[in-house]
Amino acid sequence: MTDYNLPHEHNSNISTVLNRMPDADKFSQAASVFAQLGDGNRLRILWIICHCKECVSDIAAALNLSKALVSHHLQLLRRSNLVVSERAGQEIHYSLADTREAELIHQTIDTMFEITCPKC
Ligand SMILES: [Zn+2]
Repeated sequence: MTDYNLPHEHNSNISTVLNRMPDADKFSQAASVFAQLGDGNRLRILWIICHCKECVSDIAAALNLSKALVSHHLQLLRRSNLVVSERAGQEIHYSLADTREAELIHQTIDTMFEITCPKC
């Protein structure tokens, strides 16, 4: 166990906590995922994607946003591995990634809005 030589002794279990703390890179990765939730329009897009597979055109029309803006947000969500895309003929369809992290974000969003998940 590492001795952290902290300036105060509060009899807390901080040494145990610090020994289990992920490295700074892991926190940076998590912060970039959480940053995806920091924009209202991106959150609206993600909320739709959490519950159905959709294309840029339908999402843009449904939210009264430009296709370019929706496309931009979807690319950011894809880079954060929260959303995946697949070609469907002439279109690209977006859906929530099948990962534990994406599902946790989905549940968090539903909990924040106190809704019963329309997907279930
Ligand atoms: Zn849901």
